[in-house]
Amino acid sequence: MNLILLGPPGAGKGTQSRRLSDKLKIPQISTGDLLRAARTAKTPLGLQAESYMTSGKLVPDDLVVSMIRERMQQPDCRKGYILDGFPRTVGQAEALEKMLIVSQSGMDHVVNLFVAEEELVKRLSGRRQCRKCGENFHTSFLPSRKDGFCDRCGGELFQRDDDREEVIRNRLSVYGKQTAPLIEYYRKQGLLREIRGVGTVDEIFETMLKVVSG
Ligand code: AMP
Repeated sequence: MNLILLGPPGAGKGTQSRRLSDKLKIPQISTGDLLRAARTAKTPLGLQAESYMTSGKLVPDDLVVSMIRERMQQPDCRKGYILDGFPRTVGQAEALEKMLIVSQSGMDHVVNLFVAEEELVKRLSGRRQCRKCGENFHTSFLPSRKDGFCDRCGGELFQRDDDREEVIRNRLSVYGKQTAPLIEYYRKQGLLREIRGVGTVDEIFETMLKVVSG
């Protein structure tokens, strides 16, 4: 099964796609995680992406598209994949369509997780991420059992440099201008499934499973 998880920063795409990946046994491909790994490794791509990411802007389409093309050609993607944070512009969606034609495959569902903006700001400003496995926690809504460490793998938790309030507002505005048009784009293709991203992680996951199995 090939899936796209669409939604603003903080909607829960990472958390839900990681769970879906465990359940459906297909990889989660997060362009944000891939770019952060490239930054940590100081690869040419990581160095090019750095200034865009710290200011909350999108990394240029050509860089992200070639990164994702390479990732989707890995053998673990043969049975399907969950795209988390890609595509984020109409240009990326068009590039993805071409890749799907070349590989003679298609998209099964595009799940849009929607959440009100004020809720997103609260979620993102308290978010903490595991350095090792990428799992997300929240200082008030979902604290880890041991302060500063991941419940899942024991890795160290950190605050992303783009989860500061001024950058958050910028990311949400970039989302509204550049990514939200994809909702209509996929609605017209009959692929869009909409889910309210509020409630517990388990509740949202149950709804998500029903939607992608239906
Ligand atoms: P995320 O972890 O998905 O919130 O992404 C973090 C940052 O990585 C974004 O604010 C962008 O700077 C960059 N990024 C991630 N995915 C993309 C994408 N598909 N296109 C452009 N930039 C991206």
